Amino acid sequence: LAEQAYASRFEPAVTTDGHHIEVMANLTAAKSVDKAIDHGCEGVGLFRSEFIYMDYPQEPTLEEQRAEYARVLDALGADRPLIVRTLDVGGDKPLPYMPIDKEENPFLGVRGIRLSLRYPETLKRQLHALLTAANGRLLRIMFPMVTDIHEWRALRAMFDEVVVDYPGSNIELGIMIEVPSAALMADIFAKEVDFFSIGTNDLTQYALAIDRGHPELSRQADSINPAVLRLIDMTVRAADRHGIWVGVCGELASDPHGAAILTGLGVKELSMSMRAIPRVKAHLRQLSMQAARDLAERALAADSSEAVRALPLLETDKLA
Ligand code: PEP
Ligand code: MG
Repeated sequence: LAEQAYASRFEPAVTTDGHHIEVMANLTAAKSVDKAIDHGCEGVGLFRSEFIYMDYPQEPTLEEQRAEYARVLDALGADRPLIVRTLDVGGDKPLPYMPIDKEENPFLGVRGIRLSLRYPETLKRQLHALLTAANGRLLRIMFPMVTDIHEWRALRAMFDEVVVDYPGSNIELGIMIEVPSAALMADIFAKEVDFFSIGTNDLTQYALAIDRGHPELSRQADSINPAVLRLIDMTVRAADRHGIWVGVCGELASDPHGAAILTGLGVKELSMSMRAIPRVKAHLRQLSMQAARDLAERALAADSSEAVRALPLLETDKLA
């Protein structure tokens, strides 16, 4: 079965009733982009740009950064979109050139855009590098760990300041939904951003109050938990009302059962580790949207992660 899925990895994930789900790759290094394309990705839904920074003892120069983004854009070409996430580090993985005070709870501390907003010049250099690399091509940029609207507006203002130097730019700006407050306030954000990408790893950690790396507890932090699914559902509904699309770039997208539920919830794009792409695509191609919606509805009503995991995929095509 795995071989069959691999052989058909370049086929799009179109449900039996004709809905196309975009299947994208998560990337941690520009040089992996060719491999991602060879695994059948239709674009890159999450380029974790912090890995560029972590490779350098001091902040990489604008030119060094530009070269990384241009490498990915060149390889993807015009038909495969790219979403770059701005620098996402914090107290758990500090950078020597962006010091912060030691924290008791780094995951609740200065991480993601909280750090970028403390080092605005670094973020502006990243935006300059991104805009230079894009050079008029479509590029999507998203911000991690956005918690409230004022942060988004401060980021937007910084972007607006930078983008005036790049007439003819074709940039869409989104935020990650990975803090419960952002999911709860999705209707407010949806009026001002171009897209949402849900980070189910952190969203789960913060919704369930379980450290995602905890040696004993992390197994309990299953993103398929109905509490997390309800936050996702809320996010998608808010986005739909305001005419923007939602993707998922956390691990839940890599899980075929999770991918089916996300599809049924109305998620349009799934971004995952490249190894998962063939299998998820093959799974979605066997599914009707009606069956996915049914599954999602039962998942939202389930009482636990275990109950969601145990849900069978009903053959509901006859209802459609
Ligand atoms: C997430 O939190 O789900 C996510 C995609 O980002 P990261 O795993 O890099 O924190
Ligand atoms: Mg995250």
